[in-house]
Amino acid sequence: MRHFFRRRGELYCEEVPLRAIAEAVGTPTYVYSRATLERHFRAVDRALGPAPHLVCYSVKACGNLAVLALLRRLGSGFDVVSGGELRRVLQAGGDPARVVFSGVGKTDDEIALGLRAGILCFNVEGEQELSAVAAVAARLRKVAPVALRVNPDVDAKTHPYVATALAQSKFGVPLRRARAIYRAIARCPSLRAVGLDCHLGSQIESLAPFEAAASRLRRLLEELAADGHRLEHVDLGGGLGVPYGREQPPSPRQWADALRRALGPSRLRLVVEPGRVIAANAGALLTRVLYRKRGAARAFAVVDAGMNDLLRPALYGSVHALEPVGRPTRRKVVLDVVGPVCESGDFLARRTRVDDLGPGDLWAVMTAGAYGFSMASSYNSRPRPAEVLVDGRRFDVVRDRENPRDLWRGEHIPEDLKP
Ligand SMILES: *Cc1c(COP(=O)(O)O)cnc(C)c1O
Repeated sequence: MRHFFRRRGELYCEEVPLRAIAEAVGTPTYVYSRATLERHFRAVDRALGPAPHLVCYSVKACGNLAVLALLRRLGSGFDVVSGGELRRVLQAGGDPARVVFSGVGKTDDEIALGLRAGILCFNVEGEQELSAVAAVAARLRKVAPVALRVNPDVDAKTHPYVATALAQSKFGVPLRRARAIYRAIARCPSLRAVGLDCHLGSQIESLAPFEAAASRLRRLLEELAADGHRLEHVDLGGGLGVPYGREQPPSPRQWADALRRALGPSRLRLVVEPGRVIAANAGALLTRVLYRKRGAARAFAVVDAGMNDLLRPALYGSVHALEPVGRPTRRKVVLDVVGPVCESGDFLARRTRVDDLGPGDLWAVMTAGAYGFSMASSYNSRPRPAEVLVDGRRFDVVRDRENPRDLWRGEHIPEDLKP
């Protein structure tokens, strides 16, 4: 069931023509399908079967409060990587007892925020961070629940910027140091070891890296059990890839089955932290063509969405399908589809066969729900786009387009320079 489809030539999201959203809200605008978010969450949740598990949606993929509130209603927990993300989850009514806190650079304030909220677990990424968590917990007279994020040294065969489990990566601690660190946790009265954690990276398109990591964790879990640690969960992170074009990543079911198989029989609760697989194909970015122009060597369509709105093509060279919102044109043309930002890296697509759209026509940049708005900035002083959630026949603006005042909110001109 696809919730972005064509009816009489026009592109729809659920029962709403995308043109209607562009006309009502303007462009660029992110559009999310509620039915798709629900279907993806349920697919992951069901794939993990009846054994104890917790799906902690990775907030950094798409952190709009409406998206978080929807996932919370479906029973999702959350993986956060900053105090800001934790605050978002709480603001959306998320249950702190279902929150894991990852990230290599937690500050004392962020640790205190997590402790006061009563989160499920801190995924601790290093020895000094562990000391910081212990010290803040002791100061607050609390016991911090922790899991060590280990780096299983597995090549996820993904873009280098989103591979996080290689030996040279900044994330986690090497497997061989794990036992000593758990011994230190056991000796510390303000820490309680509740789990073991790893995360391999993102947009992983085969099962092998997941299987390799899970079997390394299985061995470590046996050693930790033999050392007398009574853990409650094992967290295998997120990272399952999605089809942007012709990729054929494993299904959530295949992924979950592979994790369970590699972990072996276990009484531990299985935690996962999927982001992209839930949000990516639930979202599209609507953009309008401003101009067509011809350079010396290339032909361009200049659109009103730039790298500040959707960074992925510029940052990772990622390829997103472009679908015309109106009826596809008979003639196709090879174009660079570029934004208005003053950077040559500002493109949505390069040398791509696309529909022959002209000024005023609309494109939907597909599979933009994850790492789309959440990576948006106001570079070039461009207000960040609006976000819309579609639910059947209705749609709601779930984040207003920023206005010019938002661009300089918090800035101050010293007295003697005032105009
Ligand atoms: C980004 C991230 C995720 C989510 O990754 P996806 O590829 O979006 O599933 C999960 N866990 C951690 C620690 C992350 O940093």
